[in-house]
Amino acid sequence: MPGKRIAIIGAGPIGLEAAMLARLRNFDVVVIEQGGVASNVRSWGHVRLFSPFEVNASAWSRAACDRSALPPDDALLTGDEFFEQYLLPLSQHPLLKGSLKEQTRVVKIGKRRFWKGDAIGKHSRLESPFQLLIESAAGEEYEEADFVLDCSGTSGNHNWLGEGGVPALGERHLARRIEYGLPDISGKDRPRFSGKRTLVVGSGYSAATTIVALGNLIEQDSATRVFWLTRQASDTPLPTIKDDSLQGRVDLTSAANELACKSETRVTWLADAKVRQLSVDESDDLLVTIELQTEQGDLACQVLAVDNVIANVGFHPDRSLYEELQIHECYASQGPMKLAAALMGEMSADCMTQSSPGVDGLKNPEPGFFILGAKSYGRDSRFLLRIGLEQIQSVFDLIAAEAE
Ligand SMILES: Cc1cc2nc3c(=O)[nH]c(=O)nc-3n(C[C@H](O)[C@H](O)[C@H](O)COP(=O)(O)OP(=O)(O)OC[C@H]3O[C@@H](n4cnc5c(N)ncnc54)[C@H](O)[C@@H]3O)c2cc1C
Repeated sequence: MPGKRIAIIGAGPIGLEAAMLARLRNFDVVVIEQGGVASNVRSWGHVRLFSPFEVNASAWSRAACDRSALPPDDALLTGDEFFEQYLLPLSQHPLLKGSLKEQTRVVKIGKRRFWKGDAIGKHSRLESPFQLLIESAAGEEYEEADFVLDCSGTSGNHNWLGEGGVPALGERHLARRIEYGLPDISGKDRPRFSGKRTLVVGSGYSAATTIVALGNLIEQDSATRVFWLTRQASDTPLPTIKDDSLQGRVDLTSAANELACKSETRVTWLADAKVRQLSVDESDDLLVTIELQTEQGDLACQVLAVDNVIANVGFHPDRSLYEELQIHECYASQGPMKLAAALMGEMSADCMTQSSPGVDGLKNPEPGFFILGAKSYGRDSRFLLRIGLEQIQSVFDLIAAEAE
């Protein structure tokens, strides 16, 4: 669409795919990325994706790339392989030349001429461009755009360890000692965990990935000790998905559950437990006070002395970026309201069975502004790249109609 400019926040998989479609449809595009290309994917580069390449990459970008250089459709790539074999070449595609601003952070998005409370919910707000305050080592500047796609993910904003999502006592001060991501336990981070005591908190696939890696470490160094804390009382830490179509996810779930439930492993599962307090003793051990239910139903306190705490407790969106725009958010997931409502109606834990709710779910009261990718799911961790690619297509159909 000549003459119309789209600003895309984030050069993750969804931001890059959106940028390619924008260029293929002749929009002027700028992608603003606070780090380097796909910096979130690279932070868990040692982890293998459980969905095959063909559903992780769009038809439009694959058609525009040199097909012989692409991974096979059925390849289950690690994050690093996905970056090296697809996302990096995509970011260097001639169509995107000059469109990427790396090491540049979007601080705030507003509108020229309209303040937040002006022309409430009116389409006339689209007549004035968006204004983005961006910041890099060179300083601050404004970017202007007719449309904005917020593809900034959630990985920069971890949840907290304490009960109800409130930081545990002492957690904020010790946050630098806590790992909120996925360390490379079998690779470069191994010395930090081998022969050491580690507490893992969480009951999703990230926690399962961590536990399985630690389980492998125990086999190589039997001095390694692992505590796995989950807040639910259930038979296994992770639920199993009936007739799961993703074999990688089936294997991960059963390996992690087995490590937790078999008595002879050196993984101690603490179910129905909460983290209350963290402190450091004179030998620099982390002391973690946990509360757990006894078999008699009483609340008991236990103090664990550990070398590491890995908090795989999820992430939430940074909504401060768009607080000067008119956005209707879900009060539970913090995703855009219409999409969140559609997702709540689809409570299956199997993200592979989810359908994309279509463009209506992606519309905000603020015309021309869309939240796509992992951020569109807010705190809901079921997002899949396949869904993000469908979102991009739906949004571009709408933008094309509005840009005319
Ligand atoms: C370990 C792991 C395994 C996964 N495996 C799969 C899988 O097998 N299949 C699948 O479909 N999904 C998988 N996912 C889920 C999801 O697809 C990925 O998290 C994916 O990276 C989401 O892509 P995204 O582009 O929406 O966000 P991100 O990859 O998070 O990209 C967002 C980008 O925005 C940038 N950014 C953030 N804030 C700003 C700002 N203010 N200004 C500028 N830039 C900013 C970030 O630096 C980042 O580069 C997995 C997730 C994890 C964590």
